[in-house]
Amino acid sequence: MRAEFLPFSRPSITEDDISAVADVLRSGWITTGPNVTEFERAFCKYVGCKKAVALSSATAGMHLAMMALGIGPGDEVITPSMTWVSTINLIVLAGATPVFADVDRDTLMISPDSVEESLSSKTRLIVPVHFAGAAADMVSLRRIAARIEVPLVEDAAHALGTYYSGTHVGGEGTSIFSFHPIKNITTGEGGIFCSQDDDLIDHINRLKFHGLGVDAYDRQIQGRSPQAEVLEPGYKYNMTDMAAVLGLRQLARVDEFIRKRTELAIRYTDLIGEIDEILPLPVPPDTTRHAWHLFIVRLDTDRAGISRDDFMAELKQRNIGTGLHFRAVHLQKYYRESMGTGSGMLPNTEWNSDRICSLPLFPDMTIEDVDDVVEAIKEVLTN
Ligand SMILES: *Cc1c(COP(=O)(O)O)cnc(C)c1O
Repeated sequence: MRAEFLPFSRPSITEDDISAVADVLRSGWITTGPNVTEFERAFCKYVGCKKAVALSSATAGMHLAMMALGIGPGDEVITPSMTWVSTINLIVLAGATPVFADVDRDTLMISPDSVEESLSSKTRLIVPVHFAGAAADMVSLRRIAARIEVPLVEDAAHALGTYYSGTHVGGEGTSIFSFHPIKNITTGEGGIFCSQDDDLIDHINRLKFHGLGVDAYDRQIQGRSPQAEVLEPGYKYNMTDMAAVLGLRQLARVDEFIRKRTELAIRYTDLIGEIDEILPLPVPPDTTRHAWHLFIVRLDTDRAGISRDDFMAELKQRNIGTGLHFRAVHLQKYYRESMGTGSGMLPNTEWNSDRICSLPLFPDMTIEDVDDVVEAIKEVLTN
């Protein structure tokens, strides 16, 4: 057994990253400023999007997207239940109704057929999730969205480095990325809103900073009017320069990170292929580069004779950390009680919600660490 605990994720931060953040702290300008502007520019270049707004989190980005798109009472937003809770929470907080689409049983991507079945005259927005570092079926989803004339906002929190049919996710349409510490790059906490739509970007820029349309940097450094007025009530979701300088340095290493993640994922795939009780996720054919944000497996609980939760606990006893992405949102207490959702609604989502488990995967991990994880899995399954 491993002597040292292997976490399921850990950010890759160098001494130079730490110095760069310290330099910003010493510079006299630590909130939104030149590093944010440079980070937004570098991010657009990497992803191939027209414009980007750096924010305090991806959740903030989703909140602003719903405000800018005018989502409110009487509106329905179609999204998977197999996702992080933030999107669903925000739909409800906006006064709108989440409508859960099921996912593909094997890729965990939102099913376009299920989206079709979820449409109504009240549908105002579709929020697909690019799961685990692979890409959702955007051709089908864009066709549906165009036909019924509703916007698509892509949850790309897992998809920095993901290519769909040769194009980076976010290179078309509107998408939101996250820089939470477990994501492919981190700014501590942070997110970014990307779009090709100039008006939408202007609106998001205004909403992210009190509804003023200019931020403190604009006013002090760029010499814009300090008399800027509130055009509509906004939030306080701007990214700091301390975060952005870390983001810039991380972005410069993202391809190196993904190379390492891919190497580890290949090793997992090879070794796990021999274990009948463990089912990895297949890569969708139109994902032309998988960013390997997560290495998710499903435990065949019937065959293994052990629940997923016990499996995770047994691995932890063997010093292997795991994650759970995700417990279906429609099965969580608030949603069960307020919406009357429950088992039987979304068969593929529920099947996976009981069986998925994310194995350790981060750039500073070694091949030997992967071997330790697989050895621990085999031990748990034979006992
Ligand atoms: C992490 C994550 C988010 C939220 O990102 P934050 O930056 O933490 O707000 C949203 N959606 C998915 C699928 C995520 O994994």
